[in-house]
Amino acid sequence: MNEIIHPTEKTKLKRIPKRGNFERETIYKILDEAFVCHVGFVANNQPFVIPTSFARIDDRLVIHGSAASRMMRSLSEEIDVCVTVTLVDGLVLARSAFHHSMNYRSVVVFGKAKVVSEEQEKYEALKAFTEHIVPDRWAEIRPPTKNELKGTTVLSLALTEASAKIRTGNPVDDEEDYNLDVWAGVLPVHLTTGAPVADDRLKSGISVPPNILNYSRK
Ligand SMILES: Cc1cc2nc3c(=O)[nH]c(=O)nc-3n(C[C@H](O)[C@H](O)[C@H](O)COP(=O)(O)OP(=O)(O)OC[C@H]3O[C@@H](n4cnc5c(N)ncnc54)[C@H](O)[C@@H]3O)c2cc1C
Repeated sequence: MNEIIHPTEKTKLKRIPKRGNFERETIYKILDEAFVCHVGFVANNQPFVIPTSFARIDDRLVIHGSAASRMMRSLSEEIDVCVTVTLVDGLVLARSAFHHSMNYRSVVVFGKAKVVSEEQEKYEALKAFTEHIVPDRWAEIRPPTKNELKGTTVLSLALTEASAKIRTGNPVDDEEDYNLDVWAGVLPVHLTTGAPVADDRLKSGISVPPNILNYSRK
């Protein structure tokens, strides 16, 4: 599957291009670990960048929301959209302010989203979406009704124009600064969940399922 998504004029990295990556597999791994994206689009000459959740289904990203939201209404018109996904892996603490940085894996996707209108496809997208965020959750919950499906817009964005950028490793200081008495290195950053907090109205006798108890994004 390790096919390359060919760089375009838009996705070609300019600064530190060696950190760029166009392998489908690498891009998909980043998308699959994340669950929040930022959706950039222009409506009435005003740029918006809206955070939302997403899932990947094969070679597409899906997002969903209320049909009344500006983001969903605008994207439904198949306008240009740019979606970014960011995973922060570490704070890179250099000896100088200038060389402080972050270790990260990020993806930028360009395209035009399409409305998923066929009912079964929409249902499958919502299922994939739920499973992407909490694996095995779909089997535990009540699925959406026809009315709930009707009130939800699902958009699909093909992963045909995309780039990843990855920074790993130590700070890169100026040679003369390595002698300074300053602690330098990387402070790893991980996404972790806390202990589950039961809903105040949880029926008695229901225990926390293992997929929630052992939740992890890796
Ligand atoms: C957590 C985090 C912190 C960062 N902090 C800084 C910072 O403080 N200062 C700074 O200048 N840069 C920072 N970056 C890098 C920043 O995202 C850009 O890569 C940078 O601005 C250089 O862009 P460019 O001029 O090469 O490309 P641009 O001309 O902006 O982009 C050209 C194309 O390259 C691709 N691209 C560019 N950046 C990324 C990316 N991050 N992920 C995937 N594809 C990308 C896109 O397809 C884009 O259209 C950070 C990135 C992350 C994820």
